[in-house]
Amino acid sequence: MAIQTINPFTNSVVESYEEMPPEAVKAIISIADEAFQHWRKTAFSERAALLHKVAKLMRAQSDQLARLITLEMGKLLAQSKGEITLSADIIDYYADHGETFLKDQPLNPTFGEAYIKSTPIGVLLGVEPWNFPFYQVARFAAPNIMAGNVVLVKHASNVPQCALAIERLFREAGAPIGVYTNLFLSGSRVDEVVADVRIKGVALTGSEAAGASIAAAAGKALKKSVLELGGSDAFIVLADADIEQAVHWAVIGRMNNTGQCCVAAKRIIVVEEIAEEFLNKFKAKLTGLKVGDPMEPQTELGPLSSQGAADQLIDQVKRSVDAGAKVLLGGNLIDRDGAFIEATIISDIKPGMAAYQEELFGPVAAFYRVKDEQAAIELANDSPFGLGGSIFTQDIEKGKRLAEQIDTGMVFINHPTWTQADLPFGGTKRSGYGRELSSLGIQEFVNKKLIRVSKLTDPF
Ligand code: NAP
Repeated sequence: MAIQTINPFTNSVVESYEEMPPEAVKAIISIADEAFQHWRKTAFSERAALLHKVAKLMRAQSDQLARLITLEMGKLLAQSKGEITLSADIIDYYADHGETFLKDQPLNPTFGEAYIKSTPIGVLLGVEPWNFPFYQVARFAAPNIMAGNVVLVKHASNVPQCALAIERLFREAGAPIGVYTNLFLSGSRVDEVVADVRIKGVALTGSEAAGASIAAAAGKALKKSVLELGGSDAFIVLADADIEQAVHWAVIGRMNNTGQCCVAAKRIIVVEEIAEEFLNKFKAKLTGLKVGDPMEPQTELGPLSSQGAADQLIDQVKRSVDAGAKVLLGGNLIDRDGAFIEATIISDIKPGMAAYQEELFGPVAAFYRVKDEQAAIELANDSPFGLGGSIFTQDIEKGKRLAEQIDTGMVFINHPTWTQADLPFGGTKRSGYGRELSSLGIQEFVNKKLIRVSKLTDPF
């Protein structure tokens, strides 16, 4: 895949970059490995000071960085600004809490003394997607740099200017060379980096195909991987839900980032009693969203990240309709320049259809009516994915009971699946394994070393 900025609002090529040749990649890994030998010995306070500086610079440059996101992948500008704030919050969060999360853990053996020390493991590779070009990198880089590791980031090939901007922020903040490095590399060459003996772990956020490929390469080289893959979150609305609130959040849950969130509310599952009322209100809100330039504040529906992404989504809708699904709203590319598709609702979706099995990565809601809450849970669980999900009900205890029956990494009650620095993020089933964010995210790539003190008089 060419490393290029292509503005999805116009589909025109803005900037192209050369891929790094294998020798350059080897040299970058050597520099990172050398940097690790120093960085692993730094105090937490030094690492925290660097991260706080990066977060500060990010906030100070928020407008300019947000415009880069919007230019490269089409996110509405206000949402791009929100992403910059969230990313800076995550970086500050690990600067503030990393030392506590990694402090020595005393054990309580039957005799003598023992404790766990968390130590960094080396150079890590992060392979990141375009849909949140700053946030995804923040949640990989900040905890790992705080833990004393150093990182190489291979960003998605369609957001090269965002990739360079993040590297520049680390440089401006005074990061020693090799602590944070951008790699311009296509996805097909990631295996060669994973195989390098100096790389100690790899984290990917991306598609199932990339996940399977990276996990195989990491397995072959006997190193750890963390995979954050796709999802098809159920958004369940029960009969006792506050319908206005549920509709409000369904629109945000499905349409945020033009529907291109791993945890978007992709399957809207509503119990029969209120399905018609919910659908009418949901459809009314999606009808007539103002389509336009994502840089303009009044725009409500921008382009997808690329023409290829728009074409693929329309193909999924078409294959579902050919198999018997019904289009209740939209369903087409918008006849204008850029990667635009209509806000879409489809229904009558049955097992085996594309819309049932596959992730719909854009503004297409799959709408299901079910007879009761048990049927809602069964449908929610009948998915290859296990990332997030939500339940809308006014009975919180019932919401919790049902949440425990959903096979995903995250369930939100009365809110779409969401993210913040202090909540763990990750999935199960084909949505991947491992966690990012919170106290859990920083534990993935550290050695939990046992230190045991014995006396000569201790038993065997
Ligand atoms: P993608 O095609 O898998 O790309 C993600 C990254 O993987 C890019 O840097 C890409 O590089 C690289 N890549 C592609 N093929 C690869 C391979 N065979 N081996 C190694 N690396 C490879 O995914 P995407 O379309 O950019 O992102 C959307 C997907 O990410 C969706 O499925 C979404 O749900 C998922 N996602 C998951 C989470 C989560 O936390 N669970 C969060 C956000 C997104 P190139 O760009 O050079 O191809």
